[in-house]
Amino acid sequence: MDLELARRLEELKQKQLYRKLRPLASSQGPRVNLDGREILNFSSNDYLGLAAHPALAAAAHEAAAKWGSGSGASRLVCGSLNLYHELEQSLAAFKGADAALLFSTGYAAALGAITSLASPADFVVIDKLVHASIVDAARLSGATLRVFRHNNPADLERILGWCRGQKADSPRQILIITESVYSMDGDFAPLRELAALKDRYHAWLMVDEAHATGLFGPGRSGLIEELGLRGRVEIQMATLGKALGSSGGFITGSRVLADYLVNRARSFIFSTAPSPASAAAALAALRLIQSSEGDARLETLRSHLQFLRDSLSALQSAPPHSPILPLLIGSEENALALSQKLLDAGFLIPAIRYPTVPRNQARLRLTASAAHTPEDLHRLIATLKPLL
Ligand SMILES: *Cc1c(COP(=O)(O)O)cnc(C)c1O
Repeated sequence: MDLELARRLEELKQKQLYRKLRPLASSQGPRVNLDGREILNFSSNDYLGLAAHPALAAAAHEAAAKWGSGSGASRLVCGSLNLYHELEQSLAAFKGADAALLFSTGYAAALGAITSLASPADFVVIDKLVHASIVDAARLSGATLRVFRHNNPADLERILGWCRGQKADSPRQILIITESVYSMDGDFAPLRELAALKDRYHAWLMVDEAHATGLFGPGRSGLIEELGLRGRVEIQMATLGKALGSSGGFITGSRVLADYLVNRARSFIFSTAPSPASAAAALAALRLIQSSEGDARLETLRSHLQFLRDSLSALQSAPPHSPILPLLIGSEENALALSQKLLDAGFLIPAIRYPTVPRNQARLRLTASAAHTPEDLHRLIATLKPLL
């Protein structure tokens, strides 16, 4: 077997698509210790700098002492810790929804929700650039899958019309899925138009707020809140692993939706509950982002992002306040070479390549964190500008 696998890996190397892990000797943060060198990290999704925040670590520590390190089983098997119910109530209130259901990751949340909501009799209609977890789930559901052009409501409407034309005697449900802030380009979905279309075609709308949760809206719950669309989106999905600085994923929506997922979502039913420590850290994160310290962190992040945009002309087209700044390079080879030069100079900004993004649209995906200092940003710009 190894001979064959080595041959396949060699093929990836030829195409500049080989990947490997980089062991870190430090916690995640704006500065990481990589191979004994201190490197400035501009690639994390830890936008508010909470992943190594003492308040979250303390909450995780206390929870491990009180509830143990492991959760023992799936929550349906031998009881569901109060801690998870407390977190779900807080997540529902945070998102302005009736109920929330916790999964071990965002990936598992997508998988469980989509495969239980859509069956081979239904349609799933996704944006061209949605996250792999959504694509995988849509395929696994067995539903008829259609893809609309990225952020293009007119193309979505064309497909919805087609779906309607296909409807046989038995009613077939249509599930539309989009992200709110796109993970690789940081651009925003036209959520108002998508919500209007789903109403017109009696479809359901699912929105993945992985990169918006914690960052947008007066209560920081995401772009849906910011755009006043609460109540217009049947299924909201997010992760605890990005701005919230912990790990885990969740779905929010109606009580009936949550009860249905408990009964049908296989990634919930057949998987061990998240660890008490990560649930407690997420609860601490929710408190923190809604405090004055949270406000100050978001303000810092926004001023960092503005500075980066003002300093590099290649970044000026990114939408305001987007936490993700794509530096489009093109070929996989050039993107890798630039990323390597930056690493040699002490900056971690990996090249994002196929299959994460389309072929020949390789890029450096630059993110900032509230934990960076203005000096970190000045150093980055001084190094990066001459290399572009
Ligand atoms: C990261 C991410 C996920 C998966 O969340 P995890 O908690 O990391 O599994 C889903 N959707 C999008 C858009 C993401 O960026």
